[in-house]
Amino acid sequence: GPPLAARLEALPASATIAITGKARALRAVGVDVLSLSIGEPDFAMPEHALEAAHRAAREGLTKYPPIDGYPALRAAIARKFERDNGLRFDVGQIAIGHGGKQLLYNAFAATLEPGDEVVIPAPYWVSYALTAQLFGATVVPVDCAEAEDFALRPEGLAAAITPRTRWVVLNSPSNPSGAVFSPDLLRAIGQVLEAHPHVWVLSDEIYEHLVFAPAEHASIAALCPGLRDRVLTLNGVSKAYAMTGWRVGFAGGPARLVRAMAKMQGHTTSGVSGPAQMAAAAALDGPQQRVREMRAVYRARRDRVVTALRAMQGITCAMPQGAFYAFPSIAGCLGRRSAGGRLLDSDTAFAEALLDEAHVAVVPGVAFGASPYLRLSTAAADEVLDEACARMARFCAELD
Ligand code: PLP
Repeated sequence: GPPLAARLEALPASATIAITGKARALRAVGVDVLSLSIGEPDFAMPEHALEAAHRAAREGLTKYPPIDGYPALRAAIARKFERDNGLRFDVGQIAIGHGGKQLLYNAFAATLEPGDEVVIPAPYWVSYALTAQLFGATVVPVDCAEAEDFALRPEGLAAAITPRTRWVVLNSPSNPSGAVFSPDLLRAIGQVLEAHPHVWVLSDEIYEHLVFAPAEHASIAALCPGLRDRVLTLNGVSKAYAMTGWRVGFAGGPARLVRAMAKMQGHTTSGVSGPAQMAAAAALDGPQQRVREMRAVYRARRDRVVTALRAMQGITCAMPQGAFYAFPSIAGCLGRRSAGGRLLDSDTAFAEALLDEAHVAVVPGVAFGASPYLRLSTAAADEVLDEACARMARFCAELD
């Protein structure tokens, strides 16, 4: 048939999708698979947000919405940035899109030229890399060490920036490592960035409310006013309010960039549906007590899972300070054989054998630009987490 675009063929297939597909196929034939592979909160969304969506639909917000969002949501986002992040944006500095994911896409589409470089601390959320590649940019990973809790070293960042760098991506708390960059570290990173005025900075803070004390969340745009004209602070309602399916993300940044992103959006998806926007506004403006409750639950789960992982043969695990993942190293298992006779020569081989033999689905670290690791999501009930860890412990104990 007719050809597909070369840029698409150059994109690697998603390891997450491969594992999820395999898990689904096993489940379809009756295997009891436990899935710790997806990054989706297992909580219900806030009731008042659901009601706001219902009301919006009833009251007629059912036509094409404004591309850059309804004023009510833009105002709620401005309040949120000021309240939580100490950031003041006027309405022309706020972008709204179909999830944080689409804002990332719009931002990169609006700025990247083939051959540009995008610096990304590794391990990283895979969409940064794939979206950059889609626009012909080269990903420049900066490896962050497990022994340093996957914090980005400012010297490592400085060494990675070249005249071709167009973006530096920061993601604290991090998916998949759970690293949280302290205010001091962010200031040091900001100092490096101040020396490179040709670089845009994406600060993806979508997990900001899922930070475990004594770690604390800070926004680089607030800490480093000198960067204000080139930081895009990205966020959304998916993680904090368990509203993944509503597809609402938002960002605050320089008006020039926000305008360019809106132009992209005008030609692709237009604006987010009215009921979804009103649900997001209600979540941002409503009571925040549930966010604190979810944080406490995620923290207890983190403790549970990391304790179990650290007791497994061949596994080490840094302590995540935020988000809802654990990112253990399987270095101590490499080169060994599973009870089913599989040679574990990579994290992909480990994840495949774990799924086939122990029926636990996790994502191999290679999908996040770091090996040999696994990403386990802790967005699951205690019973599921306990049973998955018990199966994985057995799997590790039986390695040859
Ligand atoms: N940023 C990070 C680090 C994520 O893990 C995700 C979702 O998995 C997103 C952004 C985007 O989420 P959404 O598009 O649902 O807003």
